Amino acid sequence: MNNLSSIFREKKLKLTPQRIAVYKFLQSTKEHPSAEIIYKALQPEYPTMSLATVYKALKTLVDVNLVQELNVGEGNFRYDGNVMPHPHIQCLHCGKVDDIEGICFSDLNDKVKNYTQYEVLGNQVYFYGICKSCKDNA
Ligand SMILES: [Zn+2]
Ligand SMILES: [Zn+2]
Repeated sequence: MNNLSSIFREKKLKLTPQRIAVYKFLQSTKEHPSAEIIYKALQPEYPTMSLATVYKALKTLVDVNLVQELNVGEGNFRYDGNVMPHPHIQCLHCGKVDDIEGICFSDLNDKVKNYTQYEVLGNQVYFYGICKSCKDNA
């Protein structure tokens, strides 16, 4: 908790119960939940918190780089409490998003410099496939 308040203070963010709840929930999971899933998960403990509030808290947390937003296509977003660069893989069958651990693509930032005049700040590497449980159930 101390840690969290100092992180928020450093980012000049007000510690609202909603922001704390959303942030803590994302720290507790590796499931890369959508805003709706976060909203439903927090309902029992925060019955007065609306989906719009969850979206607002997420936007704030993404803006200050405490949470990573993943665009999974068609206007759908998933959220990740781990803001270190890491690749993701999504199951085309059940839609779940997993981290790929042990490999990092930050060297791509250097490679791509030869192909663009942009100052390259980062990248998101996203793979698609069929997860093990979907494959086993097929
Ligand atoms: Zn699957
Ligand atoms: Zn992740």
